[in-house]
Amino acid sequence: MSEGQRDSGPVVQTEDYFAGLAEYQHALSGHMDWLRGWYSEVLNWESGSRAPLPICPFEAWFDQAGDAILGGFPGFVALGGLHREIHDRADRITARAESGQTVTTSDYEAMMALVLAFGTAAQTLERDVWRTLATVDPLTGLGNRQTMMTQLIGERDRVIRLGQPCCIGLADIDLFKRINDTFGHATGDRVLREVAECLRNAVRPYDILYRYGGEEFLVCLPAATLEAGALVLDRMRVAIAALQIADSHGTPIPVTVTFGLAPLSGDVSVEESFEYADIALYKGKLAGRNRVVIHIPETEG
Ligand code: GH3
Ligand code: MG
Ligand code: MG
Repeated sequence: MSEGQRDSGPVVQTEDYFAGLAEYQHALSGHMDWLRGWYSEVLNWESGSRAPLPICPFEAWFDQAGDAILGGFPGFVALGGLHREIHDRADRITARAESGQTVTTSDYEAMMALVLAFGTAAQTLERDVWRTLATVDPLTGLGNRQTMMTQLIGERDRVIRLGQPCCIGLADIDLFKRINDTFGHATGDRVLREVAECLRNAVRPYDILYRYGGEEFLVCLPAATLEAGALVLDRMRVAIAALQIADSHGTPIPVTVTFGLAPLSGDVSVEESFEYADIALYKGKLAGRNRVVIHIPETEG
């Protein structure tokens, strides 16, 4: 990224996740090799034929991974703690064996419990990474298209069950192709992330945001009427138009977004609600962009 540009965090690409997972798996298998070697050393203590233990690579991996992708996952710190505990306990058991004391069954059982807890924590961390890969858009950190439909079906079920209103808004960046063409694709990506961040700051904790297309976002507003939804979207629209994004030379990049709003109702399918919001969005583009257009269903209009 060039000097003078406002950075809003590193761009995380899918390949970075795969590279992070590969290093993690390497560290895990190195730890397992070390553990096998240690067991065999302690179990065969009497024989005196002790091969040197391999170096466990997990600690070194853990120290540098804290600032990388896996370091941001909730189970990461606890996993490192369990790993340290395993080595500390192993050192204590080795010291007992060296000093001629008996290694008891409870020593092994305590070690086994730690190893099992470590294995479970390791699997959970890996599963969380895969889940993120499958559900989150790496450029913006918002939910991706794949998860969107499933979650919207769940929201529609809630509308039917609780009798509450709900609406969906589509947001499409205006003339984004021109931004790419004028300022370059990398700057276009930065604009996408700034817009996503702005949308994120404008919603309530239980609203859900997705990036469902290149420069297209969906916001689902549970418990919001069309009127309330229109106010939320207009707040977003104003906030985005006020964003101060500049290229590397300080040239301002004007960014506006057009919104289409429709109810998510039990009367029609999620796909139809989406189509209605899309029709509203299209009308907003035709009417001159940078506006919020509401689709009024025929039963209400
Ligand atoms: P309109 O106001 O009618 O929406 O015009 P537009 O230029 O925004 O619409 P159009 O659909 O023609 O252009 C969308 C552009 O978004 C084209 C595509 O190259 C670009 N785009 C799609 N995905 C990405 C992405 O991930 N990064 C960047 N930088 N550009 C993207
Ligand atoms: Mg578009
Ligand atoms: Mg567009």
